[in-house]
Amino acid sequence: MRVLKFGGTSVGSPESMRGVANILKNEAESLVVLSAISGTTNRLAEIAEYFRSNQEHLALKEIDVLEGEYKIFIDELIQDAVILKDLTAILDARFIDLKRAFVKLQPAELERSILAQGELMSTSIFHRYLKSIGVENHLLNALDVLRLKSDLEPDSEFLKSALSQEVNAKPGLKIIQGYICRNAFGEIDNLKRGGSDYSASLFGAALSAEEIQIWTDIDGMHNNDPRYVTGTKSIERLSFNEAAELAYFGAKILHPSSVHPAHVANIPVILKNTQRPEAKGTRIDMMGSGTGIKAIAAKDGITAIKVKSGRMLLAYGFLKKIFEVFDWYKTSIDMITTSEVAVSLTIDQNDQIEHIRADLEKIGSVEIDENQSIICLVGDELQELPGLAVNAFSALKEVNIRMISFGGSKHNISVLVDSKDKVKALQALHENLFQS
Ligand code: ASP
Ligand code: MG
Repeated sequence: MRVLKFGGTSVGSPESMRGVANILKNEAESLVVLSAISGTTNRLAEIAEYFRSNQEHLALKEIDVLEGEYKIFIDELIQDAVILKDLTAILDARFIDLKRAFVKLQPAELERSILAQGELMSTSIFHRYLKSIGVENHLLNALDVLRLKSDLEPDSEFLKSALSQEVNAKPGLKIIQGYICRNAFGEIDNLKRGGSDYSASLFGAALSAEEIQIWTDIDGMHNNDPRYVTGTKSIERLSFNEAAELAYFGAKILHPSSVHPAHVANIPVILKNTQRPEAKGTRIDMMGSGTGIKAIAAKDGITAIKVKSGRMLLAYGFLKKIFEVFDWYKTSIDMITTSEVAVSLTIDQNDQIEHIRADLEKIGSVEIDENQSIICLVGDELQELPGLAVNAFSALKEVNIRMISFGGSKHNISVLVDSKDKVKALQALHENLFQS
């Protein structure tokens, strides 16, 4: 059995939904995971925010607009009058619930339950559309099988038994929502924005699927960011480790958490393009394609922090004190370099920065620079390849490098640059590493 996940743009119009149905022609036993129709989750987040800030009239207005768009969508998609009527009634009920959410739900649950409506609607629509064209299929409910434990990690034991039970009881094609789940209190929750890929990976691992396919609107992972660099190519094959680094350091195509469950269960992940189903896309598996640099990626919104101290900076226990500050504010560190008198590190989350600064100032003098970017070279056995680092850094002779991290893993060399130098750095590295 296979798991196939389709992102928001892949189900974003009646025409794209028809395209997905076409791709599923030979998938009689597969589990299909859907995102919300593109744009919907953002709109729902806006609605939730209106409710939260007591602007109920704006929320209701936005719900009406969305409802109108969904009506047009299904009218265009579904020809069968009986099924259309049935689906219209189901969506009506969902929109009525949305309007009442404000009175019925506690503020904490309100937002999460509003956000969940996108996937609940896209799967309802697709399930009935398939029926209307004669494709038998079952609609499963992710809220019955996927739940988070109190540490916010997915409960994989429960998922395995609950999902297998559902799948065995319902032979044939199955449709399920990505992104949504319940939390440890049984309330509606989600896997954070972009989390449908993660759902697909968790479902695939739970079912020991033969393969997990992630369908989007680009031909797999590219070897550099096509928004900034011309002549990028899609990568045919990556190892799980390489894919995890790339997903984390900027390749938007795959949610960073989604590699891990597939990796642990050793299930290949294939990234495919709904617009060009015949294109090979990218295959991610245990083997990958050997040594060398596979891709360059950039991550923006990085803050660099330098802590300097005259008093025996690297004396026993010093780094521990610094790390404890970040631990306390639940802020994870990406890069770190040390010298005899200073420690530099980067974070990608800024919300606690003033508290962090105040605490670090008790340890030494602190310099903070925002608007930095990590440029990351991803591949395998990178330290083993003679000259690789030299070649990479010589490409950056025009760029002011703030930090270098090399040797931390076999899969990644990272440099920190000011974000205004990012495009120049991506282009120069691309030319040096892939085009000469
Ligand atoms: N619909 C959710 C979002 O837009 C989840 C996803 O698409 O992966 O973030
Ligand atoms: Mg996505």
